[in-house]
Amino acid sequence: MPTALITGITGQDGSYLTEQLLDRGYTVHGLVRRTSNTVRTRLDPLFHNKGVYNKSLFLHYADLDDATTIRRVLVKTQPDELYHLAGQSHVGASFDIPESTCQFTAMGTLKLLEILRDLEKQPRFLHISSSEIFGRPDEFPQHEHTPMRPVTPYGVAKTFATQMVQLYRESFGLFACNAICYNHESPRRGESFVTRKITKAAAEISLGLNDEIVLGSLDGRRDWGSAPEYTTAMHLMLQQDAPDDYVLATGKTHSVEEFLDAAFRSVGLKYKNHLKQNPKYMRPAEVTRLVGDPTHAKQRLEWTPTTTALELAKQMTAADVESLK
Ligand code: GDP
Repeated sequence: MPTALITGITGQDGSYLTEQLLDRGYTVHGLVRRTSNTVRTRLDPLFHNKGVYNKSLFLHYADLDDATTIRRVLVKTQPDELYHLAGQSHVGASFDIPESTCQFTAMGTLKLLEILRDLEKQPRFLHISSSEIFGRPDEFPQHEHTPMRPVTPYGVAKTFATQMVQLYRESFGLFACNAICYNHESPRRGESFVTRKITKAAAEISLGLNDEIVLGSLDGRRDWGSAPEYTTAMHLMLQQDAPDDYVLATGKTHSVEEFLDAAFRSVGLKYKNHLKQNPKYMRPAEVTRLVGDPTHAKQRLEWTPTTTALELAKQMTAADVESLK
């Protein structure tokens, strides 16, 4: 049975990918940062009662900038597939902490590629790239060959990492792929992202636990898809005959306001009665109209995204109501 190693296993995508790989019979190893907090809010509820820890799911302590430890884990676990999901993933935060964003997102990826280059048994490698690499593009929708023109520190760091993956594939023959992911959401999305912030507030207000939501600009448009559908595609990418890059997107955009409206409506509320806006949540620079063209993934991976942004708004609000009850 195949073995996978996942960086960022405690995140939204890591938790879905782990579930999917365990269901397929994989042995899964995950890298986790050593912090004083040993509660893993996404993994523990899923796996503690299933008896998989230290049987088919193993966690290893390693920071992304600790190349020696990562090399040791790779040599010891001999994975067939390496999914690199880790990194500071918040675009807004990347303006406040650009150096550490680049340290982990850009250099962290290069360090992994350098380790892989030296390994005798090289795992197939997947890097989670981002639509932020396109920044302010000239073409709509964007596809795998759209020029990268990032406008945020996170986008710049992801561009570096994405191009390094291409370079190591072409120059050193690594089986290395980029999943160029547009925003993908779920009930497990971190609460600082606008979708989850909205659905949690809608749930709280509907239950009388809160009365307002404070947001920045409502005009931003995003191509929002469903996280578990995107992790399914990530797995498919590493099952192909040859490595390649794939855009994962729905091809449709919605504004923050439309998402807000759908979430509040789903619990019988009007968002206008509860909204406050604060410049604190506005970005120094915004990507304008990012929308992805998933044709390549549809054709090669036979993958089709099905959940729409407005369905996600409903599902995520319902999940937040359920967990608050
Ligand atoms: P990302 O920027 O695409 O990674 O995703 P976010 O969920 O962080 O932000 C999506 C959009 O929501 C952007 O256009 C933000 O400017 C907008 N937005 C408006 N208010 C907020 C807020 O309070 N928090 C966040 N995170 N985004 C907000």
